[in-house]
Amino acid sequence: MPDSPNPTARRFEAEGAANPLDVLKRVYGYSAFRGEQQAVIEHVVEGGDAVVLFPTGAGKSLCFQIPALCRRGVGIVVSPLIALMRDQVEALKQLGIRAAALNSSLTREEAIAVRRALASAALDLLYVTPERAVTDGFAEMIGDIDVALFAIDEAHCVSQWGHDFRPEYRGLDCLASRFPGVPRIALTATADPHTRDDIVERLALTRARVFTSSFDRPNIAYEIVERDQPRLQLLRFLRHFKDASGIVYCLSRAKVEDTAEWLNAQGIRALPYHAGMERALRDAHQDAFLKEEKLCLVATVAFGMGIDKPDVRYVAHLDLPGSVEAYYQETGRAGRDGLPSEVWMAYGMADVIQRRRMIDDGGAPEEIKRIERSKLNALLAICETAGCRRQAILAHFGEAHPGGCGHCDTCLKPVDTWDGTEAAIKALAAVYRTGERFGTGHVIDVLMGTVNEKTERFGHVDMPVFGAGKDLPARTWQSVFRQLLAASLITVDHTAFGALKLEPEARSVFRRERQVLFRKDRAASGRAARAQKSAAARERSDLAGSDLELFELLRAERLSIAREMDVP
Ligand code: ADP
Ligand code: MG
Ligand code: ZN
Repeated sequence: MPDSPNPTARRFEAEGAANPLDVLKRVYGYSAFRGEQQAVIEHVVEGGDAVVLFPTGAGKSLCFQIPALCRRGVGIVVSPLIALMRDQVEALKQLGIRAAALNSSLTREEAIAVRRALASAALDLLYVTPERAVTDGFAEMIGDIDVALFAIDEAHCVSQWGHDFRPEYRGLDCLASRFPGVPRIALTATADPHTRDDIVERLALTRARVFTSSFDRPNIAYEIVERDQPRLQLLRFLRHFKDASGIVYCLSRAKVEDTAEWLNAQGIRALPYHAGMERALRDAHQDAFLKEEKLCLVATVAFGMGIDKPDVRYVAHLDLPGSVEAYYQETGRAGRDGLPSEVWMAYGMADVIQRRRMIDDGGAPEEIKRIERSKLNALLAICETAGCRRQAILAHFGEAHPGGCGHCDTCLKPVDTWDGTEAAIKALAAVYRTGERFGTGHVIDVLMGTVNEKTERFGHVDMPVFGAGKDLPARTWQSVFRQLLAASLITVDHTAFGALKLEPEARSVFRRERQVLFRKDRAASGRAARAQKSAAARERSDLAGSDLELFELLRAERLSIAREMDVP
């Protein structure tokens, strides 16, 4: 295997070191670095640790591949998926780079060949799984050879805040103690502040330089609609893409199969993809998607990580993802070539209940469930915002955006809003007066004037804000808090049991310098409520058998859920 060094690779080996720009041009055939790539590469070549937070498609791989080629020794890359490794190794070999992967899919002979290549310094890059990287055996194997760097790709896997938590990533801090002189670089496209902090802490990267770039994907147009007649809504959306390929995400395997079949019946070439399918068929569908120009791949979340198809023109969600991170990752698969692309999601109350059930019935500890609930609420905040979607999404990643992007649905077709400045002031005042120490459930109790053990114990019943929000139903207050969250006027402190805190910008609302517009709650009026009911009936006919039980639950819970749903 790795005994085919082409002249380029051999030359680098002979020289022992090379200039990053030279490598970029000669090995990769690119003319210039993108964004911060060069800064990262130079930092790591000089031996520094780095945390790289760039969005999908930004070109993170080069940030560790080029330093590995420029430094003496082999670059060890920790990567979570064997399939992902295989693709990267193949691509590197095509470029004449001496790359290999060490994982359980190798035969004994192949594994021995990789070890030999490693021992004789005949590798530039070695990909390993986290499980392997933390073993004593692996430490021994690389103990006597030169290691150029450790790269920890998809580093969000270390965090429960990420969308792909992998416990094995937790052990990777051992690399710091075992190989103190070797630079480490952690990379991810998930950069909400919680995940970011977790990466730095869990991987012992407190002294690393953090490189971030904007998470905005300006060529992606966002649209989120309330589910009414999902199949027809989807069809209407897909009409714009007769000559293009894209992905339709569904939650369940059954829905993937049904939807693909239905789309074909509508004259749209569609193929299903989910983890329950035979391996060979799944791979065939993935290959077809990578090669064909007009194919709709209907998939569960099993599809996507590491897929590098540049011309995905659309991504549709028929079900609500579990978090903003997941939504961002999945929609981020559109438009990697930089050309205009559209993403669309239809969501309904049924999703919220289904997702909540998945969390509640899952075996996770209460602490994790709390995190999951708040991640779901953060996504709902984006669904419900009356403001610019792009602004709300970027706010989630701690990035300021002026709003009014001009190509999200709320910018193009402003939603029905009501002037919620007074309501916002009441909500913010209730947060402030109660000392920024409570979650939404309690703050809403205070606004609604609910006398209970907690409001009495903390003396909140005697405050002027107590009962100040009786003019609106609790359900509306839930929505108000989610929208305040989306507008970055408040944040949730997860280290303090979900306590709400005011953001500096809240001051301009108190001073009435800033008007706050809220999306109209459709269920507020009788007519709207009836419309919602018939929409629910239509939705029912669209649900698969196993979802029917859920639907009954939905009807029963529709009223109680509004109160229950904590922001968190
Ligand atoms: P990420 O891991 O950040 O999602 P990748 O490393 O997979 O992104 O890179 C995405 C694509 O961009 C790849 O096809 C890669 O070859 C290409 N690319 C990366 N850097 C450059 C560059 N400086 N110039 C041109 N193309 C680049
Ligand atoms: Mg990558
Ligand atoms: Zn916008």
